[in-house]
Amino acid sequence: RRIITTQLEENENMLENHLRPQYLSEYIGQEKAKEILKVYIEAAKKRKEALDHVLLYGPPGLGKTTLAGIIANEMGSNIKITSGPAIEKPGDMAAILNSLSENDVLFVDEIHRLSRQVEEVLYPAMEDFEIDIMIGKGATARSIRLDLPKFTLVGATTRVGLLTAPLRDRFGVVHKLDFYTTNELVQVLERSANVLDVTLEKEGALELARRSRGTPRLANRLLKRVRDFAQVRYDSVITKEVAEYALDLLEVDRLGLDKGDRAILETIADKFGGGPVGLDTIAAALGEDSGTIEDVYEPYLIQNGLIERTPRGRAITRLAYEHLHRPVPKV
Ligand code: ADP
Repeated sequence: RRIITTQLEENENMLENHLRPQYLSEYIGQEKAKEILKVYIEAAKKRKEALDHVLLYGPPGLGKTTLAGIIANEMGSNIKITSGPAIEKPGDMAAILNSLSENDVLFVDEIHRLSRQVEEVLYPAMEDFEIDIMIGKGATARSIRLDLPKFTLVGATTRVGLLTAPLRDRFGVVHKLDFYTTNELVQVLERSANVLDVTLEKEGALELARRSRGTPRLANRLLKRVRDFAQVRYDSVITKEVAEYALDLLEVDRLGLDKGDRAILETIADKFGGGPVGLDTIAAALGEDSGTIEDVYEPYLIQNGLIERTPRGRAITRLAYEHLHRPVPKV
């Protein structure tokens, strides 16, 4: 099992909820997003209106769900959480919308996975706070219009490119979440260590932060693994040595790459002469889904200068060869 997967592992849900900041002031980093939301939230509260619909996008584990919860808290309203694949029929979406109260936040994770018909229910709901529902069947069927309470839709997606234009255009605020800096991740870890009641030395925190791929979810996950380790062997203190030792055992390297990341780099190096090679070809060689490579693995590898996107496909860089301890090919 990959430790760097950003899918929720079993039981992790509880830990995640436990570690989730509740208010903007506790939410670390993403300064731009916080600034924008602060202004919008204050304005909406002054006018006693629902906040404009918000679309958050970026790789998994960067804090989209957390931010949706914070928006609801800051607005003093309730949140309902669902996801694209969970809503199968237009009627399901209509029922969810109909169950909302004034100013509620409806969070739809993986919103790019809504079916077209379900999505169409959202258009008038987002724009005019109305839905059309069909009554009856066959020749006697007719549609009636229902008023909805004013609500805020917060959509999250890892694949903003897959959103249809009509849906995307109905969001008043569209924001991309960025990877966190090492310093920001140290703050995330220190906050979590406090909540989990474990002693985290500064150097230990730095070591964990550097290896968390810029992602708070992974930072928290590594913290938990290393904590278990520290509890058994080191009086519950996470020092640099404990962190290093545990991370090496978990095969998370100095850049935070795990076996899966390295397999991508190695495949491009060994099977395709370093590239450029098409994404689908890489995916086939690895037996992975190309969408997963593109949205989950690749953004961090690109951000860190290990992979380059070229018009003819992906190529690995000199830095990647060095990281893999391989000779850089001469061109
Ligand atoms: P996403 O919805 O983007 O996949 P989540 O909102 O579920 O990510 O965040 C994953 C975990 O990371 C949460 O448990 C949360 O505690 C932590 N986290 C995310 N963003 C922040 C942040 N800005 N500050 C502190 N913790 C964060």
